[in-house]
Amino acid sequence: MSEKRVYTFGNGKAEGRADMRNLLGGKGANLAEMNLIGVPVPPGFTITTDVCTEYFEKGHDAVVALLKDDVEKAVAHIESLMNSKFGDAENPLLVSVRSGARASMPGMMDTILNLGLNDEVAAGMVEKTGNAHFVYDSYRRFVQMYGDVVLEMKPENKEDIDPFEEIIEKVKAERGVKLDKDLNVEELKKLVTLFKEAIKTRTGKAFPDDPIEQLWGAICAVFRSWMNERAILYRKMEGIPDEWGTAVSVMAMVFGNMGDTSATGVCFSRDAATGENLFNGEYLVNAQGEDVVAGIRTPQQITKIGSQRWAERAGISEEDRVANYPSMEEAMPEIYKQLNEIQDKLEHHYHDMQDMEFTVQEGKLWFLQTRNGKRTGTAMVKIAMDLLHEGMIDEKTAIMRCEPQKLDELLHPVFDKVALAQAKVLTQGLPASPGAACGQIVFHADDAESWHDDGHQVVMVRIETSPEDLAGMSAAEGILTARGGMTSHAAVVARGMGKCCVSGAGGINVDYKSKTVEIDGKVFHEGDYISLNGSTGQVYEGKIQTKAAELSGDFKELMDLCDKYTKLQVRTNADTPHDAQVARAFGAKGIGLTRTEHMFFDDKKIVAMREMILATNAEGREKALAKLLPYQKADFKGILEAMDGLSVNIRLLDPPLHEFVPHDLAGQETMAKEMGVDLKTIQQRVASLAENNPMLGHRGCRLGITFPEITAMQTRAILSAACELKKEGKDPKPEIMVPLIGTVAEFKQQKEIIEATAKEVFAEYGVELEFEIGTMIEIPRAALTADTIASEAQYFSFGTNDLTQMTFGYSRDDIASFLPVYLDKKILKVDPFQVLDQEGVGQLVKMAVEKGHKVRPNLRTGICGEHGGEPSSVKFCAKIGMDYASCSPFRVPIARLAAAQGALEE
Ligand code: PEP
Ligand code: MG
Repeated sequence: MSEKRVYTFGNGKAEGRADMRNLLGGKGANLAEMNLIGVPVPPGFTITTDVCTEYFEKGHDAVVALLKDDVEKAVAHIESLMNSKFGDAENPLLVSVRSGARASMPGMMDTILNLGLNDEVAAGMVEKTGNAHFVYDSYRRFVQMYGDVVLEMKPENKEDIDPFEEIIEKVKAERGVKLDKDLNVEELKKLVTLFKEAIKTRTGKAFPDDPIEQLWGAICAVFRSWMNERAILYRKMEGIPDEWGTAVSVMAMVFGNMGDTSATGVCFSRDAATGENLFNGEYLVNAQGEDVVAGIRTPQQITKIGSQRWAERAGISEEDRVANYPSMEEAMPEIYKQLNEIQDKLEHHYHDMQDMEFTVQEGKLWFLQTRNGKRTGTAMVKIAMDLLHEGMIDEKTAIMRCEPQKLDELLHPVFDKVALAQAKVLTQGLPASPGAACGQIVFHADDAESWHDDGHQVVMVRIETSPEDLAGMSAAEGILTARGGMTSHAAVVARGMGKCCVSGAGGINVDYKSKTVEIDGKVFHEGDYISLNGSTGQVYEGKIQTKAAELSGDFKELMDLCDKYTKLQVRTNADTPHDAQVARAFGAKGIGLTRTEHMFFDDKKIVAMREMILATNAEGREKALAKLLPYQKADFKGILEAMDGLSVNIRLLDPPLHEFVPHDLAGQETMAKEMGVDLKTIQQRVASLAENNPMLGHRGCRLGITFPEITAMQTRAILSAACELKKEGKDPKPEIMVPLIGTVAEFKQQKEIIEATAKEVFAEYGVELEFEIGTMIEIPRAALTADTIASEAQYFSFGTNDLTQMTFGYSRDDIASFLPVYLDKKILKVDPFQVLDQEGVGQLVKMAVEKGHKVRPNLRTGICGEHGGEPSSVKFCAKIGMDYASCSPFRVPIARLAAAQGALEE
């Protein structure tokens, strides 16, 4: 706890500094710093965040007693610099009281402007400024803010409108005017009186006329606002500790509404949308801060070039622009020059793009705030690389400046911002696969294909997706499902394709028969337009224009830079040569997981696959497997070729068989015909395959153990493909992976089949080829006995989807039914299928890596669950010494950046 509670600033001096944000809050620290580097800032003082903690421990009176001397001295300091006096009717000083925590919490806490006004002071100010409208407008705003924030005059019921707004509406209605600014001086005065009366009757508290009393009330109210509901919620979401507290900055008011030589505005040192190195912003002549944001008047551009671009977009001629909407550069050239110099100075000082607020009072420029500006993903990459080239930051800083998740915006189509602002959100699902999509609703995969072939853009809406929907998913712009979590079939496949998908939208009612979907009480038919945002999970009514992503040279340069600092490699999860190529282009260093079952989604293959599953004996299975072998071999050859020279980890068949069998009559009839048996036999076999808990049932290595011929066929297909490529002079590097191991005996049994088959294949081709046999670690027992398993397996690949499922005991396909409630009630902070649970599941992973290395020091370890593309999980993997993370192609850049940051943080 700091002994010093109040830090003054003003006139080029300050007791604080930029690096004191923990004590002074971001705003307070930067106000101090701006003084130290010669930026004109109205004088003031900051009360520390520690005092906020004291306020909650000791209460109002104790804190006022503790602060009294320091605050009185600090007010005197402002008075002397401003040449005016707080509470003096002839020459009054007004102040603003602002909140500011160490982390930016935009709009969460309270601020009070124009403090120090009462009837006498107002009258004196009118004398001094000759501007009664300005004075009484400021006064009524102050009484309203004070009544709301300090005296806590709120609507009685949540549904009621704000009591102050109610009064304003009444007064406006009496005069027949629409806008606040059209109220005359008498009416503004009347508002002040009515506000005060309402406060008295509603709260029982009188509005204090004494400016000192006003000041204490405001300071303590800002402290209290640290604990308001929205601030508490925001902190929970952002992981900001309650103990931090907010600082309070009290500053002399400067007024942008004192006539035509006054103005107020907001500006950015670079373009926050594109990253272009172009100073920009907006201002209003003769206005107060909130007017710029409130949209009552259209603000004008600060720079000439900004103004010209704005006019071009708005269809305004150059003459019209110059006459009616001149930029500050043209209208106030002297002030503009100063503003431009200071913004440049601030950017050079902070080495980052700045977001600044300023006011011009009667020809004098004042800065009220500066902070590192928020920006889009595109701007983030461009600014980081530009600052690096300009020598303002070094390589490591450039990497750390970029948020991995934000790269997503660069890789997928996005909605046009203007169109999005007018769109209506219908419902919310899980953000299963990022990007924006817009199209006409279809309900079936074959419709998606045929509509697409006819030139339509479609969104496929399903209760859930199955392997058969693949072609439809590929033809659609986006996929919306009512069921399924982040690791559901739809989500995993869509991410692999880089296709927008919203899954688990529980609020939609799909009716395949009538080809309708009810969303938010409204019925949509086939052919109606909807739009999806796969990055937020939001579903919109109608058509929202989208635009394609373009990858810049800056992006490539950033990625190359990441590799320079990374130990953890990034591979990809890919099931097709196309996905493998996409991922390779994004910098993937191999394949970390090929799910062989995804290769059966094609029409012909699914029939052979079903035949294999539905066969009642080994002979029938062998027959079907013989049909599958050439398909599999061709698929593997394509993938190995696309990844020539890089490792390709192919997993043996894994999923519960029920996912593949036909449940519909037509499908069953086809299979009966294909297999030459009667329908009843097929139906009986389908029924016999039904399981109560398919996820814990006959799947993973259990398939290969009960049907060894499947393992043999797949091994044969993989290694024959590799042998053929080798003969063609290529460099295939296959790895064969056994899924869902719980005991070493399971692995050994499968390994024997793989090795025996390999011997046969190599003998047939006359080729000797190096390949490795490894295992998935996705059952807790496998993690617990990882040392024993490592004595047999050459590598581990952590399947954190199943490992999360089995560690939490949450079905990965059914989590959508309770996750929203868990998140809402804060039982879970995040969806553990998206963000690796480092505390629980992560411990199993870490332990297994350590145990494995003890037995086999060169054991390769990687992650291939969906967490392999999530930044915090990738950093965790880097920190526990994994060799690689594997993720869907479109997440490869995100993982590369996260891996580099993980290495730099070490
Ligand atoms: C996993 O369980 O994490 C995994 C990669 O396998 P799948 O998602 O195919 O079950
Ligand atoms: Mg798995």
